[in-house]
Amino acid sequence: MEALTWQGEQDVRVNEVPRPEIVEPTDAILEITATAICGSDLHLYNGYMPAMEEGDVIGHEPMGEVIEVGSEVERLEVGDRVVVPFTISCGSCWFCEEDMYSLCDESNPNAEMAREEMGHSPAGLFGFSHMLGGFDGGQAEYLRVPYADVGPVKIDSGLSDEEVLFLSDIFPTGYMAAENADIEDGDTVAVWGCGPVGQFAIQSAWMLGADRVIAIDRIPERLDMASYHGDADIVNYENDDVYDRLMDMTRGRGPDRCIDAVGTEAHGTGLTGVTDRVKQGAKLQDDRPYVLREAIQCCRKGGTLSVPGVYLGRANVPFGALMNKAITVKTGQTHVQRYLDPLLEKIEDGEIDPSFVVTHEGSLSDAPDLYEKFNEKEDGCIKAVLTP
Ligand code: NAD
Ligand code: ZN
Repeated sequence: MEALTWQGEQDVRVNEVPRPEIVEPTDAILEITATAICGSDLHLYNGYMPAMEEGDVIGHEPMGEVIEVGSEVERLEVGDRVVVPFTISCGSCWFCEEDMYSLCDESNPNAEMAREEMGHSPAGLFGFSHMLGGFDGGQAEYLRVPYADVGPVKIDSGLSDEEVLFLSDIFPTGYMAAENADIEDGDTVAVWGCGPVGQFAIQSAWMLGADRVIAIDRIPERLDMASYHGDADIVNYENDDVYDRLMDMTRGRGPDRCIDAVGTEAHGTGLTGVTDRVKQGAKLQDDRPYVLREAIQCCRKGGTLSVPGVYLGRANVPFGALMNKAITVKTGQTHVQRYLDPLLEKIEDGEIDPSFVVTHEGSLSDAPDLYEKFNEKEDGCIKAVLTP
């Protein structure tokens, strides 16, 4: 079959690879009908993700049709149309039973590698580092889905692929980010990053009762989407000092809830005021935890900082500011399975049509070009969907 493979920094290629087969009796095999490129894929693409190997099949936002099931699969049948969460979860360990699926204790066969780095291992992920299992990903014609009774959600209704595909990751991720922000009536929520995750964090902040949403980015099309679709007030960090603007907008108090939907690859703004403020303390390489530090500086005292943005290794965080300002921090990979049914219901009820983020479509062979566009934020690319 054809699949998109990782070959090194900014080098992804479509290759012929063996078609996946049932390995465990709890597996299912899917024929992929749609699969998206995610901001998390850019960490691999840009070479920040440890333990990648040449030829790894990437991608973790897939959906498709079940074409084969293992002998112990009970919930799925051949012919079912499903969306697959990016997190692989066993469904029966202590963490899964507590609804913390992205912390599954059983699904990462390379847990030892993760333990060395982090003390414990999170769940295995599709199409990611070998430290998180090295599972083949879903930017391919076919996909093996482990623990097929736990992850995939069946789509029976007449909804299109693009309306439901983002249940695999970015809609639940934006939603959990907003939920983690502990939004209360009257709150102002600031969202750094108007990529796909930021867009869904904005939508979800409204669903969870925000009084005002402020979106921060520098890419005009993304800010436009946040304003037009997300009804957010916008701040372009290239034109404005983010700290000053946010203080102006909140009478000096700062946003009650701050969401970092950017992560490890944040750009520095280059503005002197901001740089001085957020570059305090020792610097991490290339100033990468830039948004994290800016959000901590801006957040109101006693507020909440929610971090869906992915960080790798160490991030240089001003812990003193967090402590003295009594800021609550919540973060994590998304417990996707927890949100599938309630968010599918919102789509079915017409409360939201997640396909508003899609700007680019193509076949698998277009993937290298679409990765480049998405990475460079060129050509108005906000979310690209591949149809193998
Ligand atoms: P993206 O790369 O499309 O979006 C990031 C956005 O941040 C871009 O629009 C960029 O212009 C903006 N940005 C960069 N520097 C900034 C700054 N200094 N201030 C404000 N904005 C800035 O990615 P995405 O798909 O939206 O994903 C965002 C993050 O969420 C990534 O780190 C991704 O890995 C992570 N993610 C986490 C989970 C999870 O389970 N927690 C799931 C999916 C994605
Ligand atoms: Zn993703």
